Amino acid sequence: MEVLVAFGFKVYFPENHSALIGARKIADDYIPVANAVGYSPEICSYLTSDIGAYLRNETPLKDAYGVSSIPKPDVLAVNTNQCRDLYEWFSFFGRRFDAPVFSIHPPKYLDEVEEHHVDDVAVQYEDMIAQLEKITGERLDEAKLKEAVALSLEATELWKGFLDTAVHVPSPLTFFDGTIHMAPIVVMRGLQVAVDYYKQLKAEMDERLENGIAAVDDERFRIYWEGMPVWGRLRKLSEQFVDLRTCLVASTYCNSWVFDDMTPDDPIRSMALAYTKVFVNRSEPAKERYILDEIKRFKADGIIFHDARTCPANSNASYGMPARMMEDHGIPTLTLDGDLNDLRCWSDEQATTNIEAFIEQLEER
Ligand code: SF4
Repeated sequence: MEVLVAFGFKVYFPENHSALIGARKIADDYIPVANAVGYSPEICSYLTSDIGAYLRNETPLKDAYGVSSIPKPDVLAVNTNQCRDLYEWFSFFGRRFDAPVFSIHPPKYLDEVEEHHVDDVAVQYEDMIAQLEKITGERLDEAKLKEAVALSLEATELWKGFLDTAVHVPSPLTFFDGTIHMAPIVVMRGLQVAVDYYKQLKAEMDERLENGIAAVDDERFRIYWEGMPVWGRLRKLSEQFVDLRTCLVASTYCNSWVFDDMTPDDPIRSMALAYTKVFVNRSEPAKERYILDEIKRFKADGIIFHDARTCPANSNASYGMPARMMEDHGIPTLTLDGDLNDLRCWSDEQATTNIEAFIEQLEER
């Protein structure tokens, strides 16, 4: 992101477009369209929603902003620190628009991120910069890169400050607020507008804290959400948790968009470190340590794991983690089967009943 900003590109994020499609509950119209051209129903439903919408020549951006289609890219840049699907997704658009796809492939499943991992990724950044210089015909302006990294760092610290207000009991925010307010830290890093947004948001949260305003009246239980949001069920779930006087105080999904290893003094290596260190790219024990620290910090009573069918990369219920959390650490857990965008994988009845039973279990403790 920061490199593209420094070159003066306007950056567009297909992931954000897909989340919008999911939240508008129209993904099921598009996923089969992508399936029909060979993209499996089992792969990322962000990918299939977005490609399907493109093939149907439709976008929710039209109603929201009067933008009739996704922009035509000059270049596509992707970091596979989350998963392979991103690369395949961007490659689809690379072929469609006859545009080059540049990719960074950090080493995966890291327990600790070591110097040689950072060296590897930093070299990949240098290569990408050299390619972009050829395409744009301009040398990368180091001052602009430092400025973009400084703005990303400032936005990231403010975003963290916003999320951390939820350590207070009762919490002034919920995970559902986080899913809405995270857009700038995802798509506007490196830009002043993200800093301005989070300054305003943080001030509002401080005011809520000062006035003792809770996100959930009479908060009884505090839960950690692990995994992707169910975009088409944000409202329904948030209302159920309000009724249960339970606050989802933190989540890996929102809380891992904190890139505080970045520093303008060493932009390339610090970006390499920050983007390689992301939660999704780490070993199972590293993820477990992260979640345990967060549970403690946010004083959570339990964890809900969302096992998203088409996003194994961002689902952590498949390798025994919920059982280990319960048996080794005494933390109650619930696993909900579902998906980020494909609502055919989600059952309202089952989720409602399982959540109610989980909260009853917490009441009995
Ligand atoms: S991490 Fe999950 S949601 Fe994101 S691109 Fe990969 S499969 Fe899709």
